[in-house]
Amino acid sequence: MRDRAARNQSRLDSGQGSAKDLQALQHELTSLARRQAELEEVELEVMERSESLTARVAELEARRVELAERVEALESERAAAISKLDDEAEKVSSGRADIVAGVGTELIALYEKIRASSGGMAAAELRHRRCGGCRLELGNVDLDRIRTSPQDEVVRCEECRRILIRTGESGL
Ligand SMILES: [Zn+2]
Repeated sequence: MRDRAARNQSRLDSGQGSAKDLQALQHELTSLARRQAELEEVELEVMERSESLTARVAELEARRVELAERVEALESERAAAISKLDDEAEKVSSGRADIVAGVGTELIALYEKIRASSGGMAAAELRHRRCGGCRLELGNVDLDRIRTSPQDEVVRCEECRRILIRTGESGL
């Protein structure tokens, strides 16, 4: 467009052509100038928009780096927590092995059988005549039977079949 305007201008400056031609050229030059001003305005808008988009991209990029760092920190926190839990699980299960060795395999087998059939709780405290597993109060017959059983005998709740642990507060 600038080329065209320059060409028209030089033709106009040379003064060649009829008055009508020169007038048409003048007219075209004016509208070319107007169009150029319009396009320059658009160009400016595009440049401004491009600048603001560039700034936004930089902002998002910084945020991305920040989030990546946060993810990394959380991942290492999680790894540390898992390793702590692993250590704890190891400690707990090694303690359990000692207990199993002391109790004897027969009772352990019974314990495991009850544990599997009663939601993970195989033994319960007998407390104030009540089974800590099913919460039911034992009858006098059962309580007599338990009272007269030797201390090392395994007694069980007639209701839920859990192993009952006798203590000073059993109410016997
Ligand atoms: Zn019970």
